[in-house]
Amino acid sequence: MTEQVHHATRRRHRSVSVLILLGLIAACLIGATATPMGPAQAADAKFKKFVDGFWPRARKAGISRKTYVRAFEGVEPDPEVWKKDAHQPEFVMPASQYIALAVSDTRIETGAKKLVELKELLDAIEKRYSVDRHVLIAIWGMETNYGTFPGDKYVIRALATLAYKGRRTKFGRRQLIAALRILERGDTTPERMTGSWAGAMGHTQFIPTTYLGNAVDYDGDGKRDIWDTLPDALASTANYLKRSKWQMGQTWGYEVVLPKRFNTRQASLRTVKTIGQWRKLGIKRVRDKEFPRTGDRASLVLPAGSKGPAFLIVQNFRSIMRYNAATKYALAVGYLSDRIRGYPAFAREWPDGVRPLDSDQRRELQKLLLARGFAIGDIDGVIGSKTREAVSTVQKEKGLKADGFPSLKLLQAMRKDS
Ligand code: CA
Repeated sequence: MTEQVHHATRRRHRSVSVLILLGLIAACLIGATATPMGPAQAADAKFKKFVDGFWPRARKAGISRKTYVRAFEGVEPDPEVWKKDAHQPEFVMPASQYIALAVSDTRIETGAKKLVELKELLDAIEKRYSVDRHVLIAIWGMETNYGTFPGDKYVIRALATLAYKGRRTKFGRRQLIAALRILERGDTTPERMTGSWAGAMGHTQFIPTTYLGNAVDYDGDGKRDIWDTLPDALASTANYLKRSKWQMGQTWGYEVVLPKRFNTRQASLRTVKTIGQWRKLGIKRVRDKEFPRTGDRASLVLPAGSKGPAFLIVQNFRSIMRYNAATKYALAVGYLSDRIRGYPAFAREWPDGVRPLDSDQRRELQKLLLARGFAIGDIDGVIGSKTREAVSTVQKEKGLKADGFPSLKLLQAMRKDS
């Protein structure tokens, strides 16, 4: 899950200025006809031109020449960044698969352990920011699997690649300026400024603008270090959620049951009613529970249509969406936080029958993939992008739908082979 992009920001910057686009096309055409070089060299020269052309904007933002030159030392575009941009898990995976991978039994157990290990720190952060510890741990678990996959891309390079060309130049340019400002302030160094392909950094994957506006120096050493200082990272996340109107001690939402006849067109984040109004429409909580506050304003979310699990989501769900504007993401964070806390699994099954493999099955699958020659790294039971790519290849070989989801059916087929 390290590849999550901060859709909130992206959404705001999706409309690339037509002028910039036309400018880039013109630049490409001129470059293609006027330079008698090979394609690789031509690309390098164009990128260098981009970096030179970006300097005035950086200078205007208060970046020194020294910081700028050092930040771009040896930087070239990273083709993997564009590739990743085209394959985003929240968009290609159905909710059932997304939740199964994101809220695995291992991730729940590890989260529960972290609650115990970090109790003192979490007590203090919860008190200072009025944000529940479970959601902080869940975001940490979702974003970097508790700090184990913080991303190893040099953030300036990743953002410069997005800023240079592609469908997210506007996002890339804005974030690139913000990243340069972080270096200018000395909060970290280019060597330690690592993150995801989309520039999400540190334990809880702040993009640079989010960092500038919300990161805090919790341990008081003068640096807002979300890369190597966990207290800074968790407190920064708490600060961000607090500013996103987190309601301490309240839930993100409720799993509900719809009445037999129900107009599912009301299932939209834009449709807001009080819990009491939803109840009048026949919506009930699962397991015969009562809603604690009928005055709360809520929206109905049906991640897999009317036959799957249904949720009434409240303010805290929207706060989580400030982190990442994908509904599936907020649902996974909310659900993981509940499971870490010891709450039960969703009452209702997903309509497509998707179930997560347990940790033994995931390890077994990884062993079988390794035995078939796939370089998926360690057998750790964590389904990352390499495992998913390998799964998708095997699915293709077997004539199954190549969705990269590690299903029991696939595991059984692979057992037969070995
Ligand atoms: Ca610090």
